[in-house]
Amino acid sequence: MAQIFCIANQKGGVGKTTTAVNLAAGLARIGQRVLLVDLDPQGNATMGSGVDKRAMALSVYDVLLESATVAEAVTVPEKLKEAGAAYAVLGANRELAGAEVELVAEQRRERRLKDALAAVAADYDFVLVDCPPSLSMLTLNGLCAAQGVIVPMQCEYFALEGLTDLTNTIKQVHANLNRDLRLIGLLRVMFDSRITLQQQVSEQLKAHYGNKVFDTLIPRNVRLAEAPSYGLPGLLFDPSAKGSKAFIAFAQELVDRGVRG
Ligand code: ADP
Ligand code: MG
Repeated sequence: MAQIFCIANQKGGVGKTTTAVNLAAGLARIGQRVLLVDLDPQGNATMGSGVDKRAMALSVYDVLLESATVAEAVTVPEKLKEAGAAYAVLGANRELAGAEVELVAEQRRERRLKDALAAVAADYDFVLVDCPPSLSMLTLNGLCAAQGVIVPMQCEYFALEGLTDLTNTIKQVHANLNRDLRLIGLLRVMFDSRITLQQQVSEQLKAHYGNKVFDTLIPRNVRLAEAPSYGLPGLLFDPSAKGSKAFIAFAQELVDRGVRG
């Protein structure tokens, strides 16, 4: 049965999508069967996995509106196969922004993704859901479907404050909608050990959240930022880059933790 994890943080530009695509590629590289679900209408995880968001016949939008099954709507990009780390992609594009409004009057609207994923749970070891930067009906669908949340974060001054909002949201969803949901861990991303403030915030994080802070640190690495324009996860675009090695280590850490709860 697949372990389903949301990659979430209500802030934009913190590294959610970079984490989602590189973790998907890293897990695939170490032999796991992975499905990446793009829940952001920007479609960055879709494009970053080598799927043209404008040319998709079916997307996560069709799945949420129940006009397609997950199995019908996923693709395994050729580029990922060629790079030796194939994972399946349930893509998103701007059409998804409309789902929010269209779902308002529907039954079980926050459980659409959960119900749809149930049909493919045996086909994957991991399902990763790249969430948009908000607590919208889309993110709620992700949180209802998941057993855990992985939170990428930068070690900046207001990081801890933002985390309180997110952990409260997780608690609320846990209490009201999804008893399985828990915080899996905090992933320090875009880390630069030369910056004293980042080291300090990192220490504070460990003091507050203990072993909920993943051991792996993702460094700031320009190769990870360049990769999306080639339609590949950084980990496959330049496997020898520091950031790529860090994501392989993170994938391994996640598997080793045996987070199934
Ligand atoms: P989000 O999905 O949270 O909005 P992204 O993953 O799109 O965030 O990242 C925001 C920007 O930061 C992107 O331009 C991305 O390429 C860049 N970025 C993310 N992680 C790293 C990293 N470890 N090193 C360098 N740049 C990064
Ligand atoms: Mg994103």
